[in-house]
Amino acid sequence: MTKHYQSSRRRFLSNLGLAGLGLPLMTAKDFMHPFVSKQKNMQQSKKLGIALVGLGGYATGQLGPALLESEHCYLAGIVTGTPSKIPVWKEKYKLSEKNIYSYDTYDQIKNNPDIDIIYVVLPNNMHAEYTIRGFEAGKHVICEKPMAITVPDCDRMIAASKKANKFLSVGYRLHFEPYNLEMVKLGTSKEYGEIKKISGGFGFKATPNQWRLQQKYAGGGPLMDLGIYAIQGMCYTTGMEPIAVSAQEGKKTDLNRFSEVEQSLSWQFEFPNRLIGSGAASYDDNMNFLKAEAAQGVFELTTAYNYNGLSGYTPAGPMNFPQVNQQARQLDAIALSIKNNKPSIVPGEMGRRDVKYLQAIYEAMRTGKRITIKAD
Ligand code: NAD
Repeated sequence: MTKHYQSSRRRFLSNLGLAGLGLPLMTAKDFMHPFVSKQKNMQQSKKLGIALVGLGGYATGQLGPALLESEHCYLAGIVTGTPSKIPVWKEKYKLSEKNIYSYDTYDQIKNNPDIDIIYVVLPNNMHAEYTIRGFEAGKHVICEKPMAITVPDCDRMIAASKKANKFLSVGYRLHFEPYNLEMVKLGTSKEYGEIKKISGGFGFKATPNQWRLQQKYAGGGPLMDLGIYAIQGMCYTTGMEPIAVSAQEGKKTDLNRFSEVEQSLSWQFEFPNRLIGSGAASYDDNMNFLKAEAAQGVFELTTAYNYNGLSGYTPAGPMNFPQVNQQARQLDAIALSIKNNKPSIVPGEMGRRDVKYLQAIYEAMRTGKRITIKAD
């Protein structure tokens, strides 16, 4: 685990004190000389401009609308290969013509002061290239999950971020969501004692679009798309990192569509204190949970990973938190950390760590062996 990631993690946990706002805590530096403070406020009041790269389902259904609600950033530009999408986006988000790019003109964003942050929302195998080109254009980058399909790609993305001296964040929206933050609080504070067993699963009957069924584009099946949420959930609830994994591919009921990637799979993480974490991901079975069985009772999310309608229980009864716009919170927290020149709480190092786990799970599934996960 890198130093950068450790400090981000610490901040993630300490932020929980703010009822899961996912926003940085005030520090002594925030109380400075009135003149400096006024300058800073002026700077902070400016919304950062975001350009969405790829106008598919997630950008259209979630990120665009969230950018209309966010306080610290707004949709300033788009990058699309489909000209027919432009009029609707232009009208809805009041985009100026000069802030509309194609994949061919993408690199010219470097000359555009309206764009502070590039948000990559493309098929998984394109994340690395468009993130690196974003840094080469001198912009901060948010990249959707999974960060990339290989660890070397993640390394290149992190190196590009360092070279450009710009922040890299991963679109891990649940770090800003109250029910999941409650799991982190209960688990890491050991409110109900030591966790004896942790499990998470995400799946539904899906007819995923073509790129999600192709190894080359997606890097795998539902594990890359959905299982990553269960990986994250088990890690942030326990505050631990797995040291080994075993995995099994599920039965394929549709051999045609799932000729290249798994249709479902399950895995078992071993955490350092002999804790077992059972995970599952599927494009066939319905599941959406994160469950911690602790010495003094069970706490769990029974709807854990959706955009809304989350629910959960503790030994004290049902959880009761507001349903929030997760993406607006995520975008605001990342924009604010950039404004304050503070590292993201969902940094590239965390995305890289998870790609390492994804790869270890696939290796365990393919070989039928227990795979050790190195701590780097
Ligand atoms: P999508 O298929 O709906 O959109 C993909 C976009 O990429 C489309 O606009 C498509 O035109 C464009 N594209 C450009 N070049 C392409 C190519 N060569 N092949 C295919 N498409 C190409 O996918 P999506 O659901 O919007 O997912 C995009 C990314 O966002 C994925 O990495 C996914 O994992 C992630 N995502 C994250 C969340 C979340 O909750 N954080 C939710 C959904 C998707």
